[in-house]
Amino acid sequence: MFAVTILGNNSALPTPERHPTAQIITLNEQLVLVDCGEGTQVQLARYKIRRSRIRHILISHLHGDHYFGLIGLLNTLSMLGRTEPLFLYAPPELEAIIALQLQCAASVLNYPLTFKPLLGENAGLLFQEKDYEVSFFPTRHRIACYGFSFNMRRRKRKLIPEQARAYEIPASFYSQLQEGADYLRKDGTLVHNDWVTLPPEPGKRYVYCADTIYNEEMIPHIQGADMVYHETTYLQDQTQKAADRFHSTSVEAATIAKAANAKKLLIGHFSSKYTELQPFLDECRPVFPNTDLAEEGVSYII
Ligand SMILES: [Zn+2]
Repeated sequence: MFAVTILGNNSALPTPERHPTAQIITLNEQLVLVDCGEGTQVQLARYKIRRSRIRHILISHLHGDHYFGLIGLLNTLSMLGRTEPLFLYAPPELEAIIALQLQCAASVLNYPLTFKPLLGENAGLLFQEKDYEVSFFPTRHRIACYGFSFNMRRRKRKLIPEQARAYEIPASFYSQLQEGADYLRKDGTLVHNDWVTLPPEPGKRYVYCADTIYNEEMIPHIQGADMVYHETTYLQDQTQKAADRFHSTSVEAATIAKAANAKKLLIGHFSSKYTELQPFLDECRPVFPNTDLAEEGVSYII
């Protein structure tokens, strides 16, 4: 399972209908939380997402609409008795902010919280798990800000059923074939794995571009992604305002997705002045047809 669930798609101001940025990435059994705007805990509860399965939290930058929900969530996990380690990645100042909040409350978390700072203009691998790896890259925003790329590996080889039958391999052995095992027949002949399987299919990739001005330097990080999330704070008639505030417009996001040959574009981080979101789609789709709104509570399979 590889999917992104949107918990918040608004910029800056929370409204009763739309929340500040937060997304849950499901990577088989593990969850990664990307940004943690105010209200994220409530959204996790609303959409019945199990907090205990979150292993990594990535914070793109330190504007409040991307992390003001974090201390509450960290505290709740502790009150719920979590003992599993939690890994937090963010610009370095966040470590001191959390430490001060805990210190003033005379609180100690029940579980080990490991903080890893995102520094400067660096890009590269952030961490690896059994089924996936995550890398990061800088975006261009008013303060230091980072995007994240999730690469889901496929471990299982692809079975060629007619070949497996031809060698009289029992179906009960098929799952071991997919794991790469050879098969020893009763007559003593060995069926090599690559006679009956093909290499695993290529993995899939989701790229989260956080907050950014229109920035073609990000294109190599997005190149060929199965799905890319790009902010569209404003519609196209606000291009100058978007640039002044280091944000992007609908058409700019679509242009980046197209230039990077992405397969699908998700748009979000809408300014709270917009009550109707359809115009964002109407502006993106002529440039990049496979565009969808990042709608709260919806899971998009990657
Ligand atoms: Zn921002």
